[in-house]
Amino acid sequence: MNPVAFSLPLRNRFRGITVRQGLLVPGPAGWAEWSPFAEYGYPEIGNWWRATWEAAHVGFPAPLRESVPVNVTIPAVGPELAHQLTVASGCRTAKVKVAEPGQSAAEDLARVEAVRDALGSQGRIRVDANGAWSVDQAQRRLTELARFELEYAEQPCADVEELAQLRRLLARAGVEVLIAADESIRRSGDPERVVELEAADVAVLKVQPLGGVRRCLELAERLGLPVVVSSALESSVGLAAGVALAAALPELPYACGLNTAAMFTTDVTDDPLVAVDGAIRVRSVAPIGVDWQAEQATTEWWLRRLDELPGELRRGGQ
Ligand SMILES: [Mg+2]
Repeated sequence: MNPVAFSLPLRNRFRGITVRQGLLVPGPAGWAEWSPFAEYGYPEIGNWWRATWEAAHVGFPAPLRESVPVNVTIPAVGPELAHQLTVASGCRTAKVKVAEPGQSAAEDLARVEAVRDALGSQGRIRVDANGAWSVDQAQRRLTELARFELEYAEQPCADVEELAQLRRLLARAGVEVLIAADESIRRSGDPERVVELEAADVAVLKVQPLGGVRRCLELAERLGLPVVVSSALESSVGLAAGVALAAALPELPYACGLNTAAMFTTDVTDDPLVAVDGAIRVRSVAPIGVDWQAEQATTEWWLRRLDELPGELRRGGQ
């Protein structure tokens, strides 16, 4: 078998895209995924490849649990659809996208309210602003949203300094919303600054951007924060690496953001890695069928992109 590109349509626009593409790579340890977003370049995409190499050539550490609880992800849709998606997921935790460009605070409130209504008081809600708010905005918005009892707010502001400032301001005002760092961990180049500045209560780890399951396990140990494993919107083949990380972490206090295969209209397998009763079973995934395969030109584009990496790294060097 040769590497082959996939092209999976999304049910709703997410992160500005409607189709997710990537490369599936076979290896002695199984199938692996390489799917850095189109706007990323070297050296960032090198980390994504380290994760791909690990999955294809080394495999994953032994799991400590058989299944992993996950959240449903609610895109920046209207309240009716948000309610419907939450109920349909069967998950007890929802991650709600907020701060979408062009949308108002009222739209965020209505979406979160609809999700709280769908989950009931026992469900857990987290919001993700993808760094879109200023400190001031974040403080105001989170103070409003706090009445829906958030388990945490993911990357409310862009910079780690802003997160630290926000966290102090919220504490001083008595607003009980924990802060999770996502982009500040995987794109800042210095994840440990989050801990140095006491900028977050929770660390979101993603396997491909952080260079593989083992690197994530080492990072989790260094950070000493509770970890939420999230996907980078991978196909079920790539998600299996995230599930393997979540299964290998010594502690897993929060539901993980790994149920994203549910956001595609199709997948690279007829048995996608999606949640049943709010959890994903730990297992390996191999692609099957052809309807997910991208055109040959797309596979060639991905192979050319892979050629941007130094040969040493491409052949598994660190
Ligand atoms: Mg996030």
